Formats: sequence, structure tokens, C-alpha cells
Amino acid sequence: MRVHVDPELCQGTGLCVAVAPEEFELAEHGPARPLNPDVDEDRRRAVEEAVQVCPVGALRLSPRR
Ligand code: SF4
Repeated sequence: MRVHVDPELCQGTGLCVAVAPEEFELAEHGPARPLNPDVDEDRRRAVEEAVQVCPVGALRLSPRR
């Protein structure tokens, strides 16, 4: 899977970083950035949790090609 951040939607709340600090970072004025957009199966749960807590739906998982 790949994780995407929509920079137009991201409000810089930092919730994704709070629940998955090993997966995302946040610059001072956002948007969030995936540390490694290619999500292995063993990291998928943490990334899915971040997708769920994002209050504006800025995170999306898609199949890796
Ligand atoms: S939780 Fe969503 S809005 Fe908040 S920093 Fe992460 S991607 Fe941006």
C-alpha cells in the first residue's frame, strides 16, 4: 500500500503524528508528510489508525503498483 497526504486538506492538526510518530512528520506550518509512503504490511495498522483519526480526511491509502 501507499499512503498519501492531501496538502490542500491537511490542517496541520498533528493527530496522525500523535498516533503514528514513526510514520508521519509535521513541519511547523504543515502539511503532514509520510516518512515512508510505501507501507509494508507490518506498518499498515499504524497507518490505518492515522487515516481514521485525521479529522479532515487528508490521508488516503491506495494499492501499491
Ligand atoms: S491528522 Fe490529518 S489534518 Fe492532521 S496533520 Fe495529519 S494529515 Fe494533516
